[in-house]
Amino acid sequence: MTLSDLQAIESAHVIPSYARYPVEIVRGEGTRMWDAEGAEYLDFLSGISVLNVGHCHPAVVEAVREQAGRLTHTTNLFYTEPAMRLAERLATSSLGGKVFFCNSGTEANEAALKLVRKAKPRGEIVVLHGGFHGRTYGSLSATPQESKQAPFAPLVPGFVVVQPTVAAIEAAVHEGTAAVLLEPIQGETGVHPIPDEVLLAARAACDRVGAALVFDEIQTGMGRTGTLWCYEQTPVVPDAITSAKALGGGLPIGALVTGPRLADVFAPGDHGSTFAGGPLVAAAANAAFELLADPGLLARVREHGELLKERLRALPGVENVRGRGLMVGFEVADAPAFAKRSLLEQRLVVNATGPATIRLLPPLVVTAAEIDDAVSRLARLL
Ligand SMILES: *Cc1c(COP(=O)(O)O)cnc(C)c1O
Repeated sequence: MTLSDLQAIESAHVIPSYARYPVEIVRGEGTRMWDAEGAEYLDFLSGISVLNVGHCHPAVVEAVREQAGRLTHTTNLFYTEPAMRLAERLATSSLGGKVFFCNSGTEANEAALKLVRKAKPRGEIVVLHGGFHGRTYGSLSATPQESKQAPFAPLVPGFVVVQPTVAAIEAAVHEGTAAVLLEPIQGETGVHPIPDEVLLAARAACDRVGAALVFDEIQTGMGRTGTLWCYEQTPVVPDAITSAKALGGGLPIGALVTGPRLADVFAPGDHGSTFAGGPLVAAAANAAFELLADPGLLARVREHGELLKERLRALPGVENVRGRGLMVGFEVADAPAFAKRSLLEQRLVVNATGPATIRLLPPLVVTAAEIDDAVSRLARLL
């Protein structure tokens, strides 16, 4: 089938919820992808921070092959070793409590929302302007963007939206607050780190009223910012985190991870999912986890992040370079056109998060030479 065959099927039979580039990808390896004509692309988006270990990492491929031939699904009526091992690793690598598995980021946030409401019945959830938490109703209700919410009203009640400032958070949190939910670095709206003093204020406000502080680490987690979890580089420890994207090494899995205080809020029957934590995705996640928890790799992410930002700052026409580790954003004129030219003319995959913002999320296995190569390709566009 040619690209135009695929486009014809799409226009006849695929619900048009995505704007695709006119490129058919057929293969990936490490930091590279190839299209159907054999052209090679340097991938500085990683499937939106899913492929932190790179495309088709041999350890993930091997784990999937082995598990696919042994057992792919059982439901949660039974035990499987990959799921229990993954839960243990996730909990002991972070907050020390317990894990609920699901299949995506938005579902991880749904689980968090249900959990904090059960912990404080009918409680309000405070979220931040510029936040993104997903597309299903609870997560969408926590995502204060007019264009994403308005067509789907009425939303889930009980969400309170504030600016990411100390004063706004202090004023919004009261005895009836169940949780503050935030991304430590807002990703979908353009790589905006939440300042430490705002995180400290959220922590203190939650402690004052017995509310839960929940970090959405779906994009910032799994090594993206140079530590396994982004909260490790902040002055606060949340009560729960949500994970997905890179967790499965390229396969779909999500998780809610709690600290000790929230570990036993759910009881059997409170929440569930048929596929959740299945042995195939859990085997892939265990392999990805092994790779991304490596302190040597994480140190390189921090170094390479600094290198990438330094190189970008030297480019004319690039402004306000920011981010942590290999989660980097910058401003450029007409970002959507810039991202498209980067893909089609320079074969470098980048992402426009808005009219003036480019986001870079390369695989964490990227080399210094590839960073130089990517920045040279960007320079040719400017
Ligand atoms: C991608 C993302 C989500 C949603 O994850 P899906 O797997 O697309 O449902 C939620 N929160 C953040 C911070 C994300 O980056």
